[in-house]
Amino acid sequence: MTEVPKENGIFVDMKRFFICLALALLLMGFGYFPAMVERYYCNGVYPVLLQARLLLTAWVPFSIGDLLYIIVCIYLIYKSIRGIIKIKKEGLDGGKLWRASAIILLVWISFKLLWGLNYDRLGAGHLLDIDQKAYSGAAVDSLVNELIDSLNSTRKQINDLKIQVDTLPASNPAAYFTMAQEAYNKAKGSYPFLSKRAPRAKATLFNPLADYVGFTGYFNPFTAEGQVRTDMPGLELPFVACHETAHMLGFASESEANLIGYLVATKSDNPYVRYSAYNEIFTYAQREQFVMMAQQKDSVGFVGAVAQNRARLDTLVKQDRKAVRRFFNIHRSSVAPIMSGVYEQYLFLNKQNAGLKSYDEVIGWLIGLKNKK
Ligand SMILES: [Zn+2]
Repeated sequence: MTEVPKENGIFVDMKRFFICLALALLLMGFGYFPAMVERYYCNGVYPVLLQARLLLTAWVPFSIGDLLYIIVCIYLIYKSIRGIIKIKKEGLDGGKLWRASAIILLVWISFKLLWGLNYDRLGAGHLLDIDQKAYSGAAVDSLVNELIDSLNSTRKQINDLKIQVDTLPASNPAAYFTMAQEAYNKAKGSYPFLSKRAPRAKATLFNPLADYVGFTGYFNPFTAEGQVRTDMPGLELPFVACHETAHMLGFASESEANLIGYLVATKSDNPYVRYSAYNEIFTYAQREQFVMMAQQKDSVGFVGAVAQNRARLDTLVKQDRKAVRRFFNIHRSSVAPIMSGVYEQYLFLNKQNAGLKSYDEVIGWLIGLKNKK
């Protein structure tokens, strides 16, 4: 028997790598045609891919994606240790390098095909026919005031209905995921572009890591599951579940997931879901109001706005917000900013040019929506 020359192996590995590279470049190129992505991917391929995965994962009560992450992590650690030992013994194997590069490209191709192309779509602005134009301080002030009114009136309803507001970790997080799912089922009457069958968010298996990584929820692009941190105040859960569900439905951008999550949650019959959304978006709006004043060096306006918001907010709302703030202050970790930096690089890579600020861009969308009305 003749031995196959080793070069042949390398050539096969190189060939596979270049095929993957060509595919990756093709997908990247496709991403530069948002109208085509919206039409063929978001309204064609993606809904089928989503339903197929929901068929596999939706009935499982825990996150399959989290379990897969754990398995892949253990496997990668094992492979890395073995790889290092082998390199030390036998030196670097060129073929393996090509193979490893091809695998990395394959993971990226799967990410893009299974969900990531949603970053390149026309998106919520196109579907709702709104623009994200530059806005004035007065427009933000007016949005802040509206949100305060909504917060106050919804809090009153909650109080009248004798519903307990969870400012501590919820004892039954699943109930909040059901509320978010019901909100989506109702909202599709107003927003026909939403899926016919609303998927449901799940509890993360990684609560103990949440302080270090600094997440309240995240989406798994491979299994199409939306995970929510469940050891945080229950008041946060309905909105975070609505946000993650928007990702599941193909709204990849953070500002759009916030916008869709907010629009859906505020259409809910359940005041708790609405309150959760008003509370979250008020935080973004108030921050934008303060940042704009600070940028204009308007210290009188800044002090005035702080005092006015405080005076306008209902006492119970202030109590709830203080309790939630206390939770996150206690759970702040020094590692979280590093992880946020890593996530910001991921956002930049996916054309989210505002990085972590892209969450705040929801304010621009909401003002656009107000102007349209
Ligand atoms: Zn998100």
